Amino acid sequence: MINLKLLPSPYQHKSLLQTLEQANDACNYASEIAWGTQTFGQFKLHKLVYRDIREKFSLTAQVAVRVISKAADGYKLDRKTQRAFRPHGAITYDDRILRYLPDDRVSIWTLAEKARQTIPYACGPKQRELLAYRMGETDLVYRDNTFYLNTVVDVEEPPLLETEDVLGIDLGIVNILADSDGETYSGGQVNGLRKRHAKLRARLQKTGSRAAKRLLRQRGKKEHRFAGWVNHNISKRVVLKAERTKRAIALENLQGIRSRTRVRKSQRRQHHSWSFFQLRSFIQYKARLTGVLVVLVPPAFTSQRCARCGCVDKANRVSQSLFSCVRCFFAGNSDTIAAENIRVLGRAAVNRPDLAASATPGLKLAKSRLL
Ligand SMILES: [Zn+2]
Repeated sequence: MINLKLLPSPYQHKSLLQTLEQANDACNYASEIAWGTQTFGQFKLHKLVYRDIREKFSLTAQVAVRVISKAADGYKLDRKTQRAFRPHGAITYDDRILRYLPDDRVSIWTLAEKARQTIPYACGPKQRELLAYRMGETDLVYRDNTFYLNTVVDVEEPPLLETEDVLGIDLGIVNILADSDGETYSGGQVNGLRKRHAKLRARLQKTGSRAAKRLLRQRGKKEHRFAGWVNHNISKRVVLKAERTKRAIALENLQGIRSRTRVRKSQRRQHHSWSFFQLRSFIQYKARLTGVLVVLVPPAFTSQRCARCGCVDKANRVSQSLFSCVRCFFAGNSDTIAAENIRVLGRAAVNRPDLAASATPGLKLAKSRLL
């Protein structure tokens, strides 16, 4: 899916907002009739309310159809209560009422003078490329005083690249990501921002004023955006590296991240799990688009196992950052050693043809044990 930010003039902003409100009013009207007459099927409801909706709400035919289907959809799961729709809920446009113009603008139907408005949108080169694979419909979404167009794209995935080795990836806290080549991506900046935010939160929560709450919300969003940007860059570099060196990527499966949240209390605050899940999903998504294979390995002992001699011992993990084997004295950065263990597990999975046969493209599940 791509998400484009619309850049309307103040007048266009007003008319888009008015259009959303009117369409959702019409949804509520259709819902009321559906509830009152216990008519929940889209076809029957259409016959009941279509003309009214066109006349009372001045909506164009396509929007009226969408409104009725949105109301009918609302009753698909549950017919025990009357459905109500938020005034600024998203509405769907099809190609007849929303057209993408070649110069990063859309022609979109609004209530204003019942005519099309031509509105520019913000678009990067990648998004422009993806827009060519658009599937048809577009949602108009209103969030934080901003309008967005969400549209689904169907990108053909490239065939899987040939794999000669595996790049092990360990996701952590101090190091957001460590790979089996010994490269680490530090969370310093992100964690610094989080720490500052937590301090600010403690202070503002004491005041409890409205302005304080607003400031907190803004800071939270800023932190979220920054971490998203960091995740985007890290995942891009990792996937490019794997592609360049003809390697698959091995990650711990999801239980790994949950079970390894045994972190000190001071660190738990920094452990924003959405950020981990986002980084994982960015890596998987970008790998799929470039044809890099991703294998998931079980998390067992990856942080306690010696990558050189295979000795598994809790005592091997001297501290959060230092690993030192009690048997062969092999030592190093514990995240890098965990990544190396993940690489070994991942390679075993890649080399097992029985697994390869049943694997879905871009994803293989390793069943091999580490011991
Ligand atoms: Zn050892």
